[in-house]
Formats: sequence, C-alpha cells, structure tokens
Amino acid sequence: MGLESIELILDVEDVFGINLPDTEVERVRTVGQLCNLIRQHVGTNHNSAFISSESVCCLNEDCGYCLNTLPAQGMCPECGQSYNINVSVEEIVTELLVENFDIKREAISMESRFIEDLNF
Ligand SMILES: [Zn+2]
Repeated sequence: MGLESIELILDVEDVFGINLPDTEVERVRTVGQLCNLIRQHVGTNHNSAFISSESVCCLNEDCGYCLNTLPAQGMCPECGQSYNINVSVEEIVTELLVENFDIKREAISMESRFIEDLNF
C-alpha cells in the first residue's frame, strides 16, 4: 500500500478504536481484506457479540449515539435507527474512502484493490 494508505490506516484506527499491526496491514490489498482485518481486531478485545469500540457510533449523523456494549445488531436506543455492525464496517470504510480520499462511491467494492483500482 502507498503513502496515503498510511493515512487511511490512521483514520481506520481512529474510527474503530483499534491498533492494526504493520505486518498485517502490509498484506492488505483490497477493501474487503481491510474490512476483515478490522473485524478481527474489533472482536479480539471483547466479546465478539458486542460492539467493542467506543468510537462506533450510530450512523444517523444527528444522533451519533455510541453503540459500545450493545449487541452487534439491533436498534439505536437514542433514535431507534436499526444498525448491524457487520454491515457497518464496510459502510464506515466506504464512507472514509469517499470523504477523506475523494474516491467515487461507485468505484468502491469489496474487491477493489487499493493500489491498482483506487490509485493509492
Ligand atoms: Zn441513533
């Protein structure tokens, strides 16, 4: 992965409240692989049935309720919007790529390769 990808990893670590070892990041080639890596780390410190990161918040921007200590799937207790953290990892990563790196949403799939397809 290129230089900019380091920034991406920092963003990802920040959003999910995790620390990704360089040796594991080096092996990531596609968006899907990054999402899998994130899931492994989000699940390691805590019961995987529960959202572990304080930084994983409700996707409703007006709400932003932190969903930690709640089951991985359910309804936001604050605004009632349903969430599923298994879907949200992909959603959040896609959102990061669109917002922070100016990549078109339609260009991003789980098979997208960072260097070859997304020009990292
Ligand atoms: Zn909410």
